[in-house]
Amino acid sequence: MSSAESSWSPGEIPNELITALEECENPLVLTHIYPDGDALGSAIAIHRLLKSSGKNPRTILTHPVPEKLAFIDHDGEAEVLTENPQLNPEDLVDAADLVVVVDTSAPDRLGLMEPAVTSSDVPRICIDHHLEGAYEYFSAIWCEPGSPATGNLIFEVFQRMGIELDRDTAESLFVALATDTGWFRHSNAGFKAYEYAARLVQLGVEADPVYNRIFQSFSHERTLSLGDLLSQSVLSEDGKILHSVFTEEIRSRRGVSMEELDGFVDSLGQVKGAEIVFLVVEIGPMRYKVSLRSHGDFSVHAIATRFGGGGHAKAAGCRLEGTEVEVVSRLLDACRDLLGESATDPATDRA
Ligand code: 5GP
Ligand code: MN
Repeated sequence: MSSAESSWSPGEIPNELITALEECENPLVLTHIYPDGDALGSAIAIHRLLKSSGKNPRTILTHPVPEKLAFIDHDGEAEVLTENPQLNPEDLVDAADLVVVVDTSAPDRLGLMEPAVTSSDVPRICIDHHLEGAYEYFSAIWCEPGSPATGNLIFEVFQRMGIELDRDTAESLFVALATDTGWFRHSNAGFKAYEYAARLVQLGVEADPVYNRIFQSFSHERTLSLGDLLSQSVLSEDGKILHSVFTEEIRSRRGVSMEELDGFVDSLGQVKGAEIVFLVVEIGPMRYKVSLRSHGDFSVHAIATRFGGGGHAKAAGCRLEGTEVEVVSRLLDACRDLLGESATDPATDRA
């Protein structure tokens, strides 16, 4: 674990960000495409904060959330753009006097909402913990790349604004924090992550049923397709690189949805000695979504950004186009470059 991550403490929240939250009337809350636990938990919590301050917030997701996470939107506040033809990105942005983006600071990660947000004069603010913050895109931004999740930054915003957290909001934020840290196992879970968790449990969150809902509730089809994925995994570079490909053929044969694939890369990466793990998921003809994980000191963020993606040092992602063989070969080349750089650079040689 890097000491920078383990010793992270929150910095100052910009005053302009708090003022914008206080002064808006019709805020529009957005997060990244294919929302995960941190994205949804953070969006729902800031939605509740705004609502309890007398505002009329709307929260728009570009894609549905994985079924197992839907419970953290206790009151069903989030609306899904791709599920409701009545929703129009331009109209949504026009009706807002503030756009609040959480858990991403990369405009292209707003997906179908991005063109409407970018071409509008409505001020936009951001709360995030990713490395590739587009600082100039926002009128105020609080981005803490050392933070375990965005959810705990939202917790800080509640504290700063003197707004009480109810049990449901605490549960949404707990899920945000717990899922982004792999249930407090990953290196981004420094002492602060445990401190936030303790405070959320004090507010009434019960960790055990939350764990069961998220991690012990998979379909048998998902387990069978995970078996396919694991049995086809490939080790290379003396066991330092581990990868596998989840094809559309496996997905349709097993009858699993894209949302159910969440967590596959973690199951794949349980092999001793594998320092870089990547999972390639076919999302369309010649189109692939890539999840990268580092189990050593290498930054897989460097690989993701090489292909226009991003994320964190230990967990990053990107999209690639081409045949399966081409895509895997480009990724393996990038991994080898990273391993090679380390071998020739005495400063990072860990042998
Ligand atoms: P996952 O592999 O779980 O989908 O993503 C790991 C991390 O990388 C997350 O923080 C996610 O936001 C980020 N990430 C995944 N795909 C992309 C991408 O295509 N672009 C960027 N900028 N970040 C990504
Ligand atoms: Mn996050």
